[in-house]
Amino acid sequence: MANLIIGSGVAGLTAAYTLARRGAPVQVFEKEPFIGGASRTIQFGDFRFDLGGHRFYTRNEAVKGLLRELLGDEMIEVGRISRIYLNGRFINYPLTFSSAFHGLGLLKTASVTASYLLGRVHGKVRTIRTFEDWVLARFGRGLYEFYFAPYSEKVWGVPCTELSADFAAQRIKGLSFREAVKNMLVRKLLRSGPPPSLITAFQYPRLGFGRIPDRLAEALPAGSLALESPVVGVEHAGGRVTALRVRTPDGAEQRVPADTVVSSMPISELVTRLDPRPPDAVLEAAKKLRYRDLVVLFLVANRPQISPDHWIYFPSRRISFGRIHEPKNWSADMAPKDRTGIVVEFFCFEGDRVWTADPADLVDAAGKGLEQCGLLKREDISEYCPVRLTRAYPIYTVGYAAQLQVLLDYLKPFENLYLVGRNGMFRYTSADYYIDMGLKAAENILGADHDLHAIGTAQEYAEK
Ligand SMILES: Cc1cc2nc3c(=O)[nH]c(=O)nc-3n(C[C@H](O)[C@H](O)[C@H](O)COP(=O)(O)OP(=O)(O)OC[C@H]3O[C@@H](n4cnc5c(N)ncnc54)[C@H](O)[C@@H]3O)c2cc1C
Repeated sequence: MANLIIGSGVAGLTAAYTLARRGAPVQVFEKEPFIGGASRTIQFGDFRFDLGGHRFYTRNEAVKGLLRELLGDEMIEVGRISRIYLNGRFINYPLTFSSAFHGLGLLKTASVTASYLLGRVHGKVRTIRTFEDWVLARFGRGLYEFYFAPYSEKVWGVPCTELSADFAAQRIKGLSFREAVKNMLVRKLLRSGPPPSLITAFQYPRLGFGRIPDRLAEALPAGSLALESPVVGVEHAGGRVTALRVRTPDGAEQRVPADTVVSSMPISELVTRLDPRPPDAVLEAAKKLRYRDLVVLFLVANRPQISPDHWIYFPSRRISFGRIHEPKNWSADMAPKDRTGIVVEFFCFEGDRVWTADPADLVDAAGKGLEQCGLLKREDISEYCPVRLTRAYPIYTVGYAAQLQVLLDYLKPFENLYLVGRNGMFRYTSADYYIDMGLKAAENILGADHDLHAIGTAQEYAEK
């Protein structure tokens, strides 16, 4: 019997690492032939890249301590530079007066300000239920239509009227048109830097974010990590998980008795693996939880650098990708001196046009968009590497919280089952919180009494 862990992302591996360090027996099952989940770093020739740039930032002392223990002087401090490509121009983020004004132009600035002032009335009378309601109330229709709607719909693939206001309240909490203008004014007058609520520097492992799961896995006892081993069945009786059924790489099915189970597999898939199966209402609720998928396209460019930025965001509907990053700007060790690479993120749904596209067509689309904004010419791209990532983000659609609650209520009585991680908990936050979930799940197994459901809630999100 052992403590069984489903998934080798940062959440599952942190739980395994913490248990193993205290001498508890662990066994991790990972369905893929590699570890790291969404936090892995890919090696492509002389280049390394994350699946979308992953900065590390935390206010949690236990997580900080764990990172020091794992990576020591591998962590470097990076000063953040990001821009938004809007209206055919690059706008600095955090916003500055000159950049915002230059980017929007006189007419657009006047129209978004006017629509914000009109929206104040609108915001006071409406119930805030959707992402659209939330943004209209705080920023007005002008900015909503110009920026928030096209970007959000590109990232999430659903109209803003179907996204829950929870999402905005968590990710852009505390921000409003008035706040943004006030911040810009104060900073202009005081000639000071960005507002304290924005993270302007972050930590990053010299060889990519994937060093975090790598180091966690390296420290596990030999034989405690099984790759290409999806969990296909979760047997339970009397309010306990009694065993996992795992498909082994040779196609056989193995039954592994469980003392405890830490699950970072998507919660909506976990319930479908339960044996005996849950009531139909639970399975129906699971079907309603949706995820956004991602195709990451790494492009090698025959130039030493493309831009100084860490991220550039592309809200325009005329550009098919949503965000890019240049790994070399995060750490010089991510690329050779004379060339650079760029990671282009195409948000999509598994099976859709982008997901199934011929990678060469995505290279053309990326080349066209990058050329349009003057960053790169198509002929500068010499090689490419596409990576498909399923379930990159849980989508907070209107009503998701009630569906999720059906699953959580059903799973709550399972006294030896611990849910952790982004999809394990269906919670959209950053990796440090998933690490904390893994850490605290392990501590609970060892006798502590942390509330795992309180980790990474809206109130705690690190950045406004
Ligand atoms: C584009 C992008 C950018 C991001 N940027 C940042 C950032 O800048 N900073 C930050 O802190 N975080 C960032 N994140 C968040 C972070 O990468 C992830 O959310 C985090 O890695 C989640 O870890 P996890 O362990 O919860 O899940 P995952 O990494 O998804 O791991 C779950 C694992 O479980 C495995 N699995 C699933 N089903 C089964 C099964 N049936 N049997 C066995 N194994 C199974 C999966 O293969 C996977 O390896 C970003 C995420 C994305 C997608």
